[in-house]
Amino acid sequence: MGLLASTVKVTAHAVDVVRSPDAGLVILIYHRVGARTPVVVDLPTPVFDDQMSRLAETGDVLSLDDAVGRLSAGEDLTGHQVITFDDGTVDFVEDALPVLDKYDLPATLYVATRHIDENVPFPDGGQSATWASLADAVSSRLVTIGSHTHSHALLDRLAPADVAAELDRSIELIGDKLGVHASHFAYPKALAPTPIADRAVRERFVSAALAGTRANGPGCDVHRLLRSPIQTTDGSRWFGHKVAGGMRFEDEVRQMVNRRRYRGASA
Ligand SMILES: [Zn+2]
Repeated sequence: MGLLASTVKVTAHAVDVVRSPDAGLVILIYHRVGARTPVVVDLPTPVFDDQMSRLAETGDVLSLDDAVGRLSAGEDLTGHQVITFDDGTVDFVEDALPVLDKYDLPATLYVATRHIDENVPFPDGGQSATWASLADAVSSRLVTIGSHTHSHALLDRLAPADVAAELDRSIELIGDKLGVHASHFAYPKALAPTPIADRAVRERFVSAALAGTRANGPGCDVHRLLRSPIQTTDGSRWFGHKVAGGMRFEDEVRQMVNRRRYRGASA
C-alpha cells in the first residue's frame, strides 16, 4: 500500500474514534473483482470471497429495492448492508457473481450502457460486459440493474438536454436489452450533482447514489445515498471498519483530490 493511502486509512480510523460514525444502512461500492488489472479497486477474488463470507455470517445484506423502500418509510437500518457495483465490466459476471451466488447475497450493478452496447472499454483496462452475460446475471434473481448514465458522463458539466438524454438512453437500453426497469441511479465518479442533474435524476429514479463513506440514517435523502468504496488496500481490518459505517475521512480526502482531478474533464 502507498504511504499516503495507508496514512489516510490510519488517520480515518483515528478520526472515527473521536467523531463516532453515524448509525444507519451501509452501502458498499465495488468496481472490479478478479485482479485482472493493477487498479486499487480491482480485488483479488479470494479477498472478495472472504468479505462476502463475512457479510453472510455477521452482516444482514438487503437488496437495494428493499433497503430504499424501508429507508423511505423512515426505518433505521443500522446493522444492514447493501452491495453495489459500478460500471458493468466482464469480471462482475465471471468473478463476482459466482461468489454472490455462493453466499446468496443480492447486489446492484449500475451500468454505463454505451460501454455495454458498443463494447467500449472502461479506463484502466476494464473490459465491458455483454448484454447476454448481463441477462444471465439478471436471471440469477440476485442482481438488480441500475443506471450509471449512458456514456459514463459527468452530469455536472452537461447541458440540461444532454443530461436528460444520458439518463433516458440508459433506461431505454436496460429495458430493451434486459427486460428490466432501471429504478436506481449512481452518479459517475460519485460527483455531487448540479441542481439540474439532481432534478433530472429525481424525476426518473427511485434512488441515486454518491460516495461518502458513511452510513445512511433514518430520514436520509434516498437520492443522495452515501456509499463506502472498498479497495484492495482495505484488507480485513479496514473492511470491517467500513462495514461498521466508519472511515469517512478517507472520502473527505477523495473529494479534495477529485475536485482537482476532474476540473475541466467531461467523462
Ligand atoms: Zn463508474
